Amino acid sequence: MMSRGILVVVSGFSGAGKGTLMKSLLEQYDNYALSVSATTRSPRAGEVDGREYFFIKKEAFEKMIDSGALYEYARYADNYYGTPRQYVDLKLEAGKDVILEIEVQGASKIKQRFPDAVLIFVTPPSIDELKRRLIGRGTEDEATILKRLSRAKEEGALMASYDYILVNDRLDEAVRELHAIIRAEHSSSRRKHDLIGKLCRELDDL
Ligand code: ADP
Ligand code: 5GP
Repeated sequence: MMSRGILVVVSGFSGAGKGTLMKSLLEQYDNYALSVSATTRSPRAGEVDGREYFFIKKEAFEKMIDSGALYEYARYADNYYGTPRQYVDLKLEAGKDVILEIEVQGASKIKQRFPDAVLIFVTPPSIDELKRRLIGRGTEDEATILKRLSRAKEEGALMASYDYILVNDRLDEAVRELHAIIRAEHSSSRRKHDLIGKLCRELDDL
């Protein structure tokens, strides 16, 4: 029987490189499914509706909240972001490891709801490097960048509650490490109750 996939939450400062990491992970390995969130923010240049996000209006987002279509949602820098339930359920059931790239409040809601979820926090090696990446990306104006950096201060305080801290220094190394963390989680004794039970029964029958 195919085993259910693992729910993986990836958070990290805006500009840490989460999007870049996810793209590379998905290109290199085929056991992952990346959940596409709904958001009320406007698309950045190059972003496609249904690929990076489902870009929707505030009213439509509030309808999704009211109808229970989201596993979690949060407000971030004046916009709503949320995780649609359906895709996550479908992919976990199909044995895929499902990645939610979400901010810290959403991550904590997911951990309450799914205690087996693995929480990974992505950071650059330094805050100077974070600023360089955020400014270098060139997709936000100065006011938005400042908002995101001040949000990073709040998020930094919650880093220690994550299961893993992933330093995204060299991209290829960070991708390999991310994959290794998730592979190792598959072997965790917490996820092997059925196998442990079966082996113990077989031992009893010796
Ligand atoms: P996030 O999704 O966390 O907000 P992005 O993936 O958009 O971050 O990355 C922010 C910027 O940093 C982008 O311009 C990206 O090309 C760059 N970047 C990502 N990872 C690295 C890395 N390991 N080294 C140098 N630059 C990186
Ligand atoms: P961005 O605007 O840079 O794409 O995303 C801003 C923040 O929202 C990031 O920290 C990102 O991880 C987070 N985010 C994206 N989708 C979701 C979601 O569905 N739920 C929550 N809680 N946060 C999300």
